[in-house]
Amino acid sequence: MGYIKIDAKNFFENLEIVSKKAGSKKRVALVLKDNAYGHGLEEMAALAYEFGIEKAVVRNMAEALKIEKLFGYILVLSEIPQEKPIPNIGITVNCIEDLKKIPPFSTVELKIDTGMHRNGIELSETKEAFDLIKKRGLVLRGVFTHFRSADELSTELFWQKKRFEKAKKRVLELCYEFGFERPLFHSCNSAALFRSESFDEDFARVGIAAYGYLESDEVFDMPELKPVLSLWGEKIASKRLKKGQRLGYGGVFEADRDIVVSTYDIGYADGFFRLDGSREYILPGGEKILGRVSMDSMSIDSQKQEICIIDDAKKCARFFNTISYEILVKLSPFLKRVVNRQM
Ligand SMILES: *Cc1c(COP(=O)(O)O)cnc(C)c1O
Repeated sequence: MGYIKIDAKNFFENLEIVSKKAGSKKRVALVLKDNAYGHGLEEMAALAYEFGIEKAVVRNMAEALKIEKLFGYILVLSEIPQEKPIPNIGITVNCIEDLKKIPPFSTVELKIDTGMHRNGIELSETKEAFDLIKKRGLVLRGVFTHFRSADELSTELFWQKKRFEKAKKRVLELCYEFGFERPLFHSCNSAALFRSESFDEDFARVGIAAYGYLESDEVFDMPELKPVLSLWGEKIASKRLKKGQRLGYGGVFEADRDIVVSTYDIGYADGFFRLDGSREYILPGGEKILGRVSMDSMSIDSQKQEICIIDDAKKCARFFNTISYEILVKLSPFLKRVVNRQM
């Protein structure tokens, strides 16, 4: 069976680099949303816990509840639960209306829109948000923002940061006025953390860097991150193709000499993008994918029992004109994750 291999050593080394940059393990919230970027939520949460990470960020309640026992701090980015969640699970306020829907006495974090204009409340709405938090008995645990161009070298990041500084000041004034404790402030994702010359917030929300990638080359000290995940296929069958015989859907590959080909059990249903046979794709071991990729299999000029399909999502992403994130998160949750602990 095809599977995903998780390299625990590389993951720990990446976490070490990230923690060092952030100042300590306590100043890292590991983003485990979307099945830990395709790596496997429970497997990665367990490894992160073992390493000493104490904070996690997820997309929804289902993810939060799966890892709730491992982290003292969990942030849910986009779901309003029906019932009051466990106190260590904080719910993101993406707009003022959320504050009327979140169950009373829940832990919440205010997301402030500092220029991405995707979600988050306006700076001018902070007072109204505080009124609602107080009225509904909610606990304000954090205030955060997300940058729209952290991975591009431009001045944008700097004016967004400035706006967040202004928001923090306003929030502290309101905390004093309302008698709330100072909340946690956080704004940086991986790229923003590595672009900071001196990081001084409560923590950074780190996803992609922990998994071994940074899309931006414009960071101050480019870290030596290593891919954590690799995708492997297992041989289904080998076959001799005579010169002139054509292979797979549409018969788009034609043998120019007698060759041996094998099918492997990874296809586009597993999340590997479909190739239509019009461009040559070279695998990490130098083998070629021949013809079109099928739903559950692909043909390769190899006879190996097991073959590596992806070992570097960034290389794969370049071929498909996308980013490493998309290659990773599209990997099927049904593929088995095997954690390799060889140190
Ligand atoms: C996904 C996400 C992150 C992590 O971003 P990376 O670029 O993977 O480090 C951080 N914050 C928020 C709000 C996110 O949605």
